Amino acid sequence: MTAQLIDGKVIAQKVRDGVAAEVAKRKAAGKSQPTLATVLVGDRPDSVSYVTSKGKACEELGMGSISHHLAADITQDDLEKLVKKLNADKKVNGILVQLPLPAHLNEERVLQLINIEKDVDGFSPINIGRLAQKGRDPLFVPCTPYGCIYLLEQAGVKIEGANAVVLGRSNIVGMPAALLLVSKNATVTICHSRTRDLPGVVRQADILIAAIGKTQMVRGDWIKPGAAVIDVGINSVPDATKKSGHRLVGDVNFEEAKEVAGFITPVPGGVGPMTIAMLMRATLHAAEIQDP
Ligand code: NAP
Repeated sequence: MTAQLIDGKVIAQKVRDGVAAEVAKRKAAGKSQPTLATVLVGDRPDSVSYVTSKGKACEELGMGSISHHLAADITQDDLEKLVKKLNADKKVNGILVQLPLPAHLNEERVLQLINIEKDVDGFSPINIGRLAQKGRDPLFVPCTPYGCIYLLEQAGVKIEGANAVVLGRSNIVGMPAALLLVSKNATVTICHSRTRDLPGVVRQADILIAAIGKTQMVRGDWIKPGAAVIDVGINSVPDATKKSGHRLVGDVNFEEAKEVAGFITPVPGGVGPMTIAMLMRATLHAAEIQDP
């Protein structure tokens, strides 16, 4: 293996320790306890598991957590009423509406309602709009892309002036990752399902962020020697050696890529742990804005 492994578990733990220390300081100073409210609609197993992990992380770091679990057939009106109630609740610093919402609900309208000072996921159009504009800092940026950039910075990868390629243009990962890279002065190419000659484009990348949800699609011979590779993909593949019968792999063929890249994140244990760590940081930041 030539690549240096970027250990998301270790880096995420340091972020969490830092947040826990700040939370303890706030408490000692008599300030309010940073509190996250999660809103889960329906029972998608992946969403249930993400929301449970977020609540658990809050408790582990000494923060408050309030969870709202709503029926899958809740009306738009009732969901919006809950968001408005959470906006007005002084005990709640951060609001996280777990996505995706069931198809009958209008996600855009719900995200638009969240007070930007409580928008710890960074998905409100105002925070995303600020991220897209020069010199207008958002209060929050989406946690997974922020985690990707944080991993690059912690690994000492120079972003300024680098050719960065982002695979995927979703609102949640690809697009905000690209905007963050531009804001850090990288030259960014965004690829998607209609991109021609994906391997050729990826070969130009000093920094590659892969977020397409396609099992190990990025091969070793797509990688520029020495590149930094951040693999956001989470894909389940059958594995008879595991008790569960499956294991998780990324969008990059790790075994091939690690022989060519300069830096690489594993799956699991790379970007995954960063998402919750950055959410915890965002919740602390929200409390600092609302109750300095
Ligand atoms: P998504 O909404 O499905 O978006 C996928 C993107 O990849 C789209 O922009 C799509 O292009 C593009 N794409 C799909 N197939 C492609 C192909 N063959 N060639 C080039 N581009 C292609 O997915 P997402 O929510 O961004 O998530 C991406 C991956 O990251 C998933 O595996 C997800 O599980 C994982 N994820 C991980 C975390 C974490 O914490 N680690 C968090 C969120 C997501 P079009 O726009 O043209 O359709």
